[in-house]
Amino acid sequence: MPTVDRIEIDLFRVPLPVPMEASAAGVMRAFDMVAARITDSDGVTGVGYTVCHEGQGPAIAAICNGPFRAVLQGQDPDRIEGLWRQMYKAVHYAGRGGPVTFALAAVDVALWDLKGNRLGTPLWRLLGGANPKVRAYAGNIDLNFPVDKLLAGGLASVEAGFRSVKMRLGRPTLREDIQRVAAMREHLPDEIELMADANEAWRVHEAVRALHELRPFGMIWLEEPISPDDTAGYVHLRQLGLVPIALGENHHTLPEFAALFSAGGVDMPQPDLTTCGGITPFIKVARMAEAFNLPVLSHGAHDLHIHCMAAAPNAAYLEWHAFGLDQFMSDPLKVSNGYATAPERPGHGVAFDWDRLKALRPD
Ligand SMILES: [Mg+2]
Repeated sequence: MPTVDRIEIDLFRVPLPVPMEASAAGVMRAFDMVAARITDSDGVTGVGYTVCHEGQGPAIAAICNGPFRAVLQGQDPDRIEGLWRQMYKAVHYAGRGGPVTFALAAVDVALWDLKGNRLGTPLWRLLGGANPKVRAYAGNIDLNFPVDKLLAGGLASVEAGFRSVKMRLGRPTLREDIQRVAAMREHLPDEIELMADANEAWRVHEAVRALHELRPFGMIWLEEPISPDDTAGYVHLRQLGLVPIALGENHHTLPEFAALFSAGGVDMPQPDLTTCGGITPFIKVARMAEAFNLPVLSHGAHDLHIHCMAAAPNAAYLEWHAFGLDQFMSDPLKVSNGYATAPERPGHGVAFDWDRLKALRPD
């Protein structure tokens, strides 16, 4: 077997075409991307990356460059589960979620891509091959938009081929949020699905009131109405049975997902491979959701998630949100009639223009 020969870790600061605002994060103008390129002794390369808020990338890149490089160098790159476990253990004391799982994601995706490239097989086939066609939704981030711009964004998503559109909640008053939802529902054609993300805006009693007021709009789900750490609160909100409850982008480890599932705190789990440690744990969360008779949704990084979702028999919705990275890809994923189709290229098939990215290295 070949061994890990070269490990290249890069940090890029990618400006967003339009500043975006969500309740938990505030206004975002750029994202940090940490990329890992792993080349084996036969000269085959795999590419991985993770994405985080501006300023958090250097810590993640340092974990990749330090302890993870030490684990990987000279090892058999095909032994992904074993290497993942070794990396997790190497840093668990100052781990286990947070920057560690973001760093694991960059490396894990590179190892899977390398494996796919070696075999000449697309990842979605390698990971299980359920159905290449996955329903996609537009994950608009529009909390700071005035109503006319909000509605124009919703319609632009429909014109771009989506049949499901998500908007943000968490304005200063619930009354304003509900007015925005009513305007959006009125504006979009009836057959277009609507969902909402409150990005942790409320406490439980506020979320209860919001769920009652949102119920008449027939939303597909309400996402992160309260802090992701409040499992008891989520159990309560779910038991009301008013609007399906979604969360998962801020759950970083398998035990966190296990606790949420076994408590009964979620209808629509939304793991994100870039935050929970890569493809390896994402697939486990998807299988765990299946065992709990739940669907699986993805969060962000749709060019990677399309493979995990196409591999999962319980896949429900792929979020469309590339953090502005699609402009640096030679053949980004496309949506048509509400669906995206997993590519047949080997590995994940994402090809970056590295020369253009190089200009985005922060000082
Ligand atoms: Mg969200």
